Amino acid sequence: HRGIGFWLAKRRLKNPGKTAVVFGDGELTYRELADAADRVAAVLWHRGIRRGDAVAYIGENSPQFLQVMFGAAQLGAVFVPVNTRLAAPEVTHLLVDSGARAVVLDAEFLERAMPGVEAGRIAHVIVTGEGLPEHPGLARLVAEAPGGHTVADVTLDDPAAIIYTSGTTGKPKGAVLSHGNLTWVALNCIVDYDVVSTDVSLMISPLFHVASLGMGALPVILKGATLVLEKGFEPGRALALIQEHGITMLSGVPTTYQMMADHPAWATTDLSTLQKLTCGGSAVPTRILNAYEERGLSFSQGYGMTETSPGATSLSPAMTREKQGSVGLPHFFTEVRITDQRGDVVPRGTVGEIEVAGPNVFLGYHGQPEATAAAFTDDGWFRSGDLGYLDADGYLYIADRLKDMIISGGENIYPAEVENLIADIEGISGVAVVGVPDERWGEVPWAVVTLREGAEVDTEIVRAHLDGLLARYKLPKNVVVVEDLPRTASGKVRKADLRERYGRGS
Ligand code: ATP
Ligand code: MG
Repeated sequence: HRGIGFWLAKRRLKNPGKTAVVFGDGELTYRELADAADRVAAVLWHRGIRRGDAVAYIGENSPQFLQVMFGAAQLGAVFVPVNTRLAAPEVTHLLVDSGARAVVLDAEFLERAMPGVEAGRIAHVIVTGEGLPEHPGLARLVAEAPGGHTVADVTLDDPAAIIYTSGTTGKPKGAVLSHGNLTWVALNCIVDYDVVSTDVSLMISPLFHVASLGMGALPVILKGATLVLEKGFEPGRALALIQEHGITMLSGVPTTYQMMADHPAWATTDLSTLQKLTCGGSAVPTRILNAYEERGLSFSQGYGMTETSPGATSLSPAMTREKQGSVGLPHFFTEVRITDQRGDVVPRGTVGEIEVAGPNVFLGYHGQPEATAAAFTDDGWFRSGDLGYLDADGYLYIADRLKDMIISGGENIYPAEVENLIADIEGISGVAVVGVPDERWGEVPWAVVTLREGAEVDTEIVRAHLDGLLARYKLPKNVVVVEDLPRTASGKVRKADLRERYGRGS
């Protein structure tokens, strides 16, 4: 077997003339994409990249992203996509931690990457566009690449990628995903979302996000369908592309969907070709669900994490109303169970830790044997660190993260439940509820909020709004207004920072 590096060669054989990627004014057939990936493999090979070596990529969506990923995969090298929004010290952590031996990047990210290139003594720095005096350009290298490199014998158990977690609860950890993980997550999507070869999929999220990669791009390529790529996301442009290319499939996060629905061109764009919309990463607000439903569109909502490549569960559009608030059933080849603190499986309806098993569950954290051991149960299930319950039909409902749960006077408080209600208050633009130490109750909830311009909100207003909607112990003892909430590059609130800041209950 040759892992995912084998896919393009197979597609070149079966559908050579089919359009694989549309990018700007250009497009690449499967033959062209496969040829380019072969040449990238040759370029890397001639630079000494071998099986097991890490190759980092820092760039916006473009065909080069796919060429480098599939080229590296052919050599058995390990692809490390880097979030382009990370700051220099974060990029350095990823480059050094992954042990990258080569980095391919858009020239605009050179400045942020150089400290990491130096710290990691990375010998090979290649830019995706035109070459620079100090750094060769990928296009020229590919054009000049000699053929005849070795294609490694790769098995499904070999590492294909190291993808870093968002770093919401600590430093980002490098989740090692195997060729098998990426194959099975793609198969899960093909089966559960009905991906077909006639699909035309627009990437409205960056490919360096594990969800866009594993659940957006890979299933499309495995099926021999067509991907439309854009450098960066602009809602008006995305709407124009949907109409221009007759897009059938979109995958993104709630924010991207919201930005499209809020755009002036939304009402006049022909959306009739759209069939499959997938959305994950966090709960989809009702406002967005409604805006799309008015246009006859509904989402497959999903739950997952980097460590599960990432899809773990999915709620089919047909069940959106009936199972409102649920993230659905486990994907076809994946299982979910709920356990208590002792690790015993709890009865249906009881909240506990969500555990995941299946061929999409990662190999482990790169260079962190202890964290890896702690992440798996004795019988091999992955501990998600999230809390939730299964209903009588086996549908999963997320409560919150284990680390964020607040225990006040012996009662469990799931901040997400409180946050969702506070978010409805006029004038609130962002909210995080965290536990702050309290002599009497152990912990009490505080709400940290950001406000829209000109708005005034205080503790009394928030408590009055929640009164009658929630048990009294769940009401924030204090509401702190801040300019900005500390967030990760993917926009999630770093609650550990807030707990530290307000930890003394001052
Ligand atoms: P880190 O592991 O570094 O702390 P992270 O867990 O945020 O960061 P990701 O793997 O990107 O990194 O995110 C996975 C997490 O996102 C899940 O464990 C869960 O907490 C949250 N999540 C994912 N999908 C949903 C969803 N549909 N609803 C609510 N939360 C979700
Ligand atoms: Mg996590």
